[in-house]
Amino acid sequence: MTGRAFPTDLFSGSRFAVAGLGRNGSAVVKTLLAMGAEVQAWDDKNPPEADPSQPRLTAAPIETLAGFDALILSPGIPHLLPAPHAVAVRARAAGVPILSDAEILFQAVRRAGSKARFAAITGTNGKSTTTALLAHMLEKAGRPVAAGGNLGTASLALPLLPDNGVYVIEMSSYMLERLRSFHADTACLLNLTPDHLDRHGDMAGYAAAKRHVFDNMTRADLAVISIDDDHCREIAQDYTAQGLTVMTLSVKDTHAVAAIASPTREAPTLPGAHNLQNALAAAAMARHLGLDDQAIADGLRSYPGLPHRQALAGVIRGIRFINDSKATNAEAAEKALLCYDKVIWIAGGTAKSGGIETLAPLFRRIAKAFLIGRDAPVLEQTLRDHHVAVENCGTLDAATHAALAAAKALDVPVVLLSPACASFDQFASFEARGAHFVDILTRLRDSEAP
Ligand code: ADP
Repeated sequence: MTGRAFPTDLFSGSRFAVAGLGRNGSAVVKTLLAMGAEVQAWDDKNPPEADPSQPRLTAAPIETLAGFDALILSPGIPHLLPAPHAVAVRARAAGVPILSDAEILFQAVRRAGSKARFAAITGTNGKSTTTALLAHMLEKAGRPVAAGGNLGTASLALPLLPDNGVYVIEMSSYMLERLRSFHADTACLLNLTPDHLDRHGDMAGYAAAKRHVFDNMTRADLAVISIDDDHCREIAQDYTAQGLTVMTLSVKDTHAVAAIASPTREAPTLPGAHNLQNALAAAAMARHLGLDDQAIADGLRSYPGLPHRQALAGVIRGIRFINDSKATNAEAAEKALLCYDKVIWIAGGTAKSGGIETLAPLFRRIAKAFLIGRDAPVLEQTLRDHHVAVENCGTLDAATHAALAAAKALDVPVVLLSPACASFDQFASFEARGAHFVDILTRLRDSEAP
């Protein structure tokens, strides 16, 4: 990431309250202090400690918002539904805006005098992939880039970019509800399926939050909307009617797909139709930001992929082991299973409601399944009901060894870890699960070496 630090007096005289000190909130506190602001910070679960070397930091519960310029609320803390946190109620009563860190980043960049452009990416699925892909395309084309937001580097941990730079920001629906002056030069909405409805009330509330990604845009900007679902199609129609420049995309548009299909096929890191949707969106935004077709194709071809999302974890005796540990629900595992005609499947962990019944149409692709974790018996029952060969192995170690043996015996070229379950029963996170899979494979490869 290229760029420099923000001026140390950028926010001097401003006062911010920061509630929730996770990855984002901690970066907010650190950066606002470095920009000269006064900050009061609090976290109900992990109260901060006062720092004598930092007189502009007050580590205390936020009892009153009077005199503050804004409250920055961690994405995990609700300000409306299912119930607003007390600090959000106080802010609203005091007329103090509740903002996300991406909004503060935008304000800081403009205050510092930089004309760097902003690309914002949202949707239910594919945000991280599209963010990483667009950032990679721009970087490969030699543009100063800083990428982050909802995933990866927190918005306020990103550096100050020069005028020709581009911020590529992944936006969750929670962040989008807390914008004010944020203005993307190009923004994209990838797809909308029911998610986080506890926080948004219903699908209409969730869609309304996602729409904010296009706030403040003008005709000179580009709104990119994939219209392969009804919610997104409706949003595209609305914004077109309002006079925004909207580019609609569809994986069924053979002409548009043809333009990027060849380099995408060459990229082993972008398998499946879902990645075509991500690649189409990244390409459209890259074009708006000044990249030509050649630069876009180069970026697609060389995209390294994100860890734990259908990443090649190892090859043993010609058998490819794919790490898709990020697939913590059936919907995500479906995307991975669709990419292979015949697989040995490793799945299991803590199942989501509904289990894996929705995957039944794909079961014929599974030569044999090896299950792990707490809810293996639930998955086993579903697979047996559909006459899929299955074995409950308990642990990922046992499942991986058994999968290698089965792949050899049944002559199946791919072993896919795409658990369709959360990892918390056996691992700290999906990242830890994926990393453990890679470790097992490294040991296995050594023991299999001729
Ligand atoms: P997000 O950041 O929105 O969670 P990721 O890019 O991390 O999305 O992808 C997470 C999982 O979602 C992937 O492993 C894949 O299974 C699925 N996925 C990715 N892109 C799409 C898409 N465009 N449509 C539907 N599912 C997708």
